[in-house]
Amino acid sequence: METTQATRGTRDVAAGAAVRLSGLRKHYGEVRAVDGVELTIAPGEVVALLGPNGAGKSTTVDMILGLSKPDAGEVTVFGKTPGDAVRAGMIGAMLQGGTLLDDLTVRETVRMVAKLHRTPMPLEQALRQAGIDDIADRRANKLSGGQKQRVRFAVALVSDPDLLVLDEPTAAMDVGTRREFWKSMYSFTESGRTVLFATHYLEEAEEFADRVVLMRSGRVVADGSVAQVRALAGGRTIRAVLPDATGETERLVATLPAVTDFELRGERAAISSSDSDATLRALMAAVPAVHDIEISAVGLEGAFLSLTAEDHTEPEEAAR
Ligand code: ADP
Ligand code: MG
Repeated sequence: METTQATRGTRDVAAGAAVRLSGLRKHYGEVRAVDGVELTIAPGEVVALLGPNGAGKSTTVDMILGLSKPDAGEVTVFGKTPGDAVRAGMIGAMLQGGTLLDDLTVRETVRMVAKLHRTPMPLEQALRQAGIDDIADRRANKLSGGQKQRVRFAVALVSDPDLLVLDEPTAAMDVGTRREFWKSMYSFTESGRTVLFATHYLEEAEEFADRVVLMRSGRVVADGSVAQVRALAGGRTIRAVLPDATGETERLVATLPAVTDFELRGERAAISSSDSDATLRALMAAVPAVHDIEISAVGLEGAFLSLTAEDHTEPEEAAR
């Protein structure tokens, strides 16, 4: 995949990758939480780490942040170890289980974190970017779930990091708040900074990421643009009626070109194809009586389900 990030901004970051994971593994007893992940993220990319619960997203994120140690493999962030990158103020993070101190106001909370950093952004700017300047004097115990998330976003922003890592940032937000959140996140990336966010919401990956890295069972099963990941899952579905279908018809259809999956219920067939034109031409030649033909594209939803299904055999070739 060509990267278009050069146009995004010209912030001065160390040359090379923003994040590089090689041969990354983390096992908990029998559970292979992260099982050999290779991933390189270029400066300025906005990457969604997408996958169902238990896929290994948080475990990966924790190792990028230096919060847990890999059993094998290596993590570098702008060429440094995670610990060094964190100490240099290069990484801002919003974790899944973070809490706030109930008795501090929003402003006090963000100021406290700003003081831990050598070159923070101005306090008011962090509050504005996170969309919480209007609730800055409110105490944390008076905030809604969505507001708390935005305070945690301000905490992640205030060090003025080059890399922002967000683990399921919108989990407690309603749809409206979620939109607002992504708007402020996007203004942050316009200055050329790198964002990695974990999510199990397909729409978020589809709308807000340049690149989707799909994880399942501790492994990367697809990696590319939204369009590429969608294409990986097998393109289109052809539905049609096959009059008087027999076992013989079934065998015939299964061997048509580009067919990746096939289901026959009575006379109604659903054929998944990576090249629907080729499949359809062959189908009409093989079963001239075929009728009521419908062709539909597989959405990212379909790609997600098919690529994250437990019995899925991995595609021979990833998009990158
Ligand atoms: P995700 O964030 O994608 O939902 P996680 O990285 O949290 O997935 O978890 C991946 C797998 O590792 C899951 O099976 C989870 O139960 C397991 N796991 C995560 N952390 C621990 C831990 N501290 N101890 C034991 N198992 C863990
Ligand atoms: Mg998680």
